[in-house]
Amino acid sequence: MTVKKSGRAPAKTPPKKPIHLKSKDKSPKIERPGIAKGTSAAKAAPAPKPAPVLKTASPKPAPIAAAKVKKTNGAVKVGVVGCAGRMGQMLLKMLINAAGIVVVGGTERRGSAALGQDLGALAGAEPLGISVSDDPSMLFDAADVVVDFTNPTATVQHAQMAAKTGCALVIGTTGFDSDQLASLGRAAQRAPIVLAANMSLGVNLLQQVVEEVARILDSDWDIEIIEMHHKHKVDAPSGTALSLGEAAARGRGQSLRRIARRIRDGQVGPRIKGEIGFATLRGGDVVGDHTVIFAAEGERVEITHRAASREIFARGALKSVLWAAGKRPGLYSMRDVLGFSVQAPQSATSNGSTPQGV
Ligand code: NAD
Repeated sequence: MTVKKSGRAPAKTPPKKPIHLKSKDKSPKIERPGIAKGTSAAKAAPAPKPAPVLKTASPKPAPIAAAKVKKTNGAVKVGVVGCAGRMGQMLLKMLINAAGIVVVGGTERRGSAALGQDLGALAGAEPLGISVSDDPSMLFDAADVVVDFTNPTATVQHAQMAAKTGCALVIGTTGFDSDQLASLGRAAQRAPIVLAANMSLGVNLLQQVVEEVARILDSDWDIEIIEMHHKHKVDAPSGTALSLGEAAARGRGQSLRRIARRIRDGQVGPRIKGEIGFATLRGGDVVGDHTVIFAAEGERVEITHRAASREIFARGALKSVLWAAGKRPGLYSMRDVLGFSVQAPQSATSNGSTPQGV
């Protein structure tokens, strides 16, 4: 990709007073296009008056056209919602240092201690002159791509903003229920959305392998999935464990919903042939371990992935950002981003790829 390196540009200018993206800033309408089309440095310009540079800024076009225009605009303008979270901070740091990307803003939930902080400082980098805001609508107007590692409720709201603006959305959040997934699907009719319960290359490879193994082995082989995560994780089983279950079910030509056994407790009786079982462990600072077990009489195959650092997810998110900029609306998965061949029966999503089981 031959986009100019601009992620570090703001650091070359003297640190500026952070810009606060607030809803009330909408009144001088001229400021929004200024934010939308400029670099981080341009965004640091304090005056909301119609400077000449703003002449190049046209009103935001309709969603699909906007995506096309955005692709030709050089560096990809990226926003991070949930920028003070574990993933948000790591991602922010990576984005600031990435070629072909310019960070245009970041948001946090109302009441967060990070509000008003400089984004660069938050990521342990040089000040960017942009402060953490609680107004995502400004961000969706300003960015080509927004990355979201927050929580399901917030992500659904962000997806609606993506649908309104045509801004691409990369979703790493996990733990959606079926209504929330349906809402994301509707938003994806109007904006490109990458939805990936696990953005690491290794786990996505694991999904391919699990699907293939499940296809090869017959139902005499029982499938069980074990996952372990740090003590702060709030959803269970993990989105990745469910996506591995989806892969195994696909390999068997089944729907996971019908055959999943997510909890066993008490007198549950013998194992039902064909079900896919899940076991969840929580503790310490484990970034994410997943094992898929294929167990038959007299032998067992176990396939494991262990994440040692959140960086692997941030790297995947970065790849997704560069891939998603300028894409047509649709619900995409990491398979699309990584270019894995899909041999399974196509389903559900608008581009024919299979959504991961978040
Ligand atoms: P975290 O709690 O550290 O971070 C979440 C952040 O989102 C917090 O800072 C929170 O204040 C913020 N937030 C909440 N509501 C918000 C709102 N309305 N607007 C803006 N910000 C808001 O959690 P984390 O460990 O960073 O994980 C976040 C999500 O990402 C979880 O669902 C987790 O399972 C998932 N995750 C996915 C991957 C992947 O590869 N897809 C990897 C790691 C984590």
